[in-house]
Amino acid sequence: MKELDPHAIRPCLACGGTDAHLESMLPPGRRQEVWRVVCACGQTLQQWSVTQGAAIRAWNRNLALETDNLSPSRDGSGRQGSKS
Ligand SMILES: [Zn+2]
Repeated sequence: MKELDPHAIRPCLACGGTDAHLESMLPPGRRQEVWRVVCACGQTLQQWSVTQGAAIRAWNRNLALETDNLSPSRDGSGRQGSKS
């Protein structure tokens, strides 16, 4: 069994800070805590995960998606040069 490596959490997309951390809460009517990653700047996910590992993965994946969206070169409007 491997311990969770906090360094697996990627730096925040909004502020670039590396102090994003796991946060837990107990939803009403549930016995199990849920987790998400939140940054000091307020950047976080809308979605809670049932495990810390899943929360980290969701955070990292979310950053990848947002980076993709923010990249103008991936916009594709006016350019049709992408073929596979
Ligand atoms: Zn941040």
